[in-house]
Amino acid sequence: MPDSDARLWAQMLAHVQAHHPGLWRHWFDQIGWLGFHGGVLRLRVSEPLQRNYLRSNGTEAFEDAARHVTGHLVTVRFVGDGDEEDFAQGLSGAARNGHAVTRSDLVLDPDNTFENFVEGPGNRLAHAAALGVAEKPGSYNPLFIYGRVGLGKTHLLQATCLRILQNHPGTTLSYVSCEEYMTQYFAAMQTGELMAFRQKFREVGVLVIDDIHFLTKRERSQEEFFHTFNSLFVAGKQIILSSDAAPEVIPDLEARLISRFKQGMVAELEPPDFETRAAIIRQKAKLRGLALPEDAVLHIATCVENNIREIEGTLTSLQLLARVEKRAPDLAMARAAVGEPQGGHLGEVTFHIITSAVTEFFNAKLTDLQSKKRHRSITVPRQVCMYLMKHNTRHSLQEIGGYFGGRDHTTVIHAIEKVQELRSTDPTFDEQLKKLQEQINKHKRL
Ligand code: ADP
Ligand code: MG
Repeated sequence: MPDSDARLWAQMLAHVQAHHPGLWRHWFDQIGWLGFHGGVLRLRVSEPLQRNYLRSNGTEAFEDAARHVTGHLVTVRFVGDGDEEDFAQGLSGAARNGHAVTRSDLVLDPDNTFENFVEGPGNRLAHAAALGVAEKPGSYNPLFIYGRVGLGKTHLLQATCLRILQNHPGTTLSYVSCEEYMTQYFAAMQTGELMAFRQKFREVGVLVIDDIHFLTKRERSQEEFFHTFNSLFVAGKQIILSSDAAPEVIPDLEARLISRFKQGMVAELEPPDFETRAAIIRQKAKLRGLALPEDAVLHIATCVENNIREIEGTLTSLQLLARVEKRAPDLAMARAAVGEPQGGHLGEVTFHIITSAVTEFFNAKLTDLQSKKRHRSITVPRQVCMYLMKHNTRHSLQEIGGYFGGRDHTTVIHAIEKVQELRSTDPTFDEQLKKLQEQINKHKRL
């Protein structure tokens, strides 16, 4: 590629990374530059799933970047290896090239893989079941995964689809959101194309419907789905469903569907514990090419508790802050990104306030407190931190333990008892703790 093009491309990538951090993926580096032809910039993306992802999510951002660096209105097309000239090709093009055919009405995010899914106690069963089905479709039928919003249902479903397509590229797999399924159903009713609609969903090898709790009784859509379900099931075709609640508590769901949904494997996704959250944050940061120091990771893991989707939002804010402040992300930035004014919410004591006070007082290092070291010079300040955290924050014992290198809650209870005991037997120690508490109280009055 000519130097001038290389420069343009580098600027475009930088623009996308800076202005669309949520979209940015580390593999964007591998996109091939094919150049401009009549106002159209063609970019080669060899991997079909990555190409689909960019076509549905990236066109606007790349056109914005191209406009920004060239000063002209530019149309961006993502093309595959063999089809540089075939501008308008869709999935059928991929099929012609012998790639996996996905009758996917939603586009699979190529990053929603098993490799990128962090296993933890809250998702172990669902993860194992999904993996089982991915490796051997039919092993549990149907597979029904449920859990609250942002706990990884869509990620797991898509990981399963991606793995099936990887192992068996010829599989006809249909992945749709329930909303999309119903939209298509209502449209088919209106245009009198119900037969085609049925055929489409009853002839697939694997049917995956995300958020099945949206299946309403309207216009007999539950009945329609019941028959589709049965014909696939009888033919031994894998069905995978996700929902925000267990089958029996989905409001308004017909009893016969409830019993169908329960006849395979039902697995719940529960909120991730501290360790899992931290691992997810590290993993997401890596995916975005974001160098995040460990204290920032732990801080975000402490603050973002229930919904992993918020982690993405926090990382996006962090990336924007890093760009605005023109420096690498650090703990202060992580704090700002989770929406805390300096030093925590007004009057709220954070882990950081406590560890700062305690490590300074005992002249200890936070990394040592978070390590497995058991020397008394480290165990005492560690126990003091745990004690003060319990008394000054609303975080659970489990979270406090997690913050200190994944210790469990019984260790925290032990620490608290130990500190209480020392306070009652050692007046000097008791005095020290009072001083520390006073220091922490200053933050409460801020
Ligand atoms: P849901 O469909 O349950 O609302 P998603 O699958 O959309 O949740 O997950 C929300 C975000 O959290 C996604 O970015 C997803 O990749 C991420 N996520 C959820 N669980 C995990 C996990 N165990 N490991 C890695 N990322 C996860
Ligand atoms: Mg979802």
